[in-house]
Amino acid sequence: MPHFIGQPCLGVKDAACVSVCPVDCIHSADDEAMFYIDPEECIDCGACLPVCPVQAIFTDDDAPPEQERFIEVNANFYRERFEG
Ligand code: SF4
Repeated sequence: MPHFIGQPCLGVKDAACVSVCPVDCIHSADDEAMFYIDPEECIDCGACLPVCPVQAIFTDDDAPPEQERFIEVNANFYRERFEG
């Protein structure tokens, strides 16, 4: 199941995850408050999990309930930006 980035990333945008992702599927924009994982491209390698300083990355089959809405938030970023 794809990984996604949740609320702890908001306002942090550390970007450590971006540099370790082997398929370059983590992106943001200047006007965005966090990073997002592309669910179509993520290969579930898990490399991003240990490098996040705020534990903002989750898998969608093992996410805390309060983070589940970010599954859609991540997917929507790619729908809106790249499929518009
Ligand atoms: Fe990238 Fe792997 Fe993290 Fe998916 S699990 S976002 S492929 S580093």
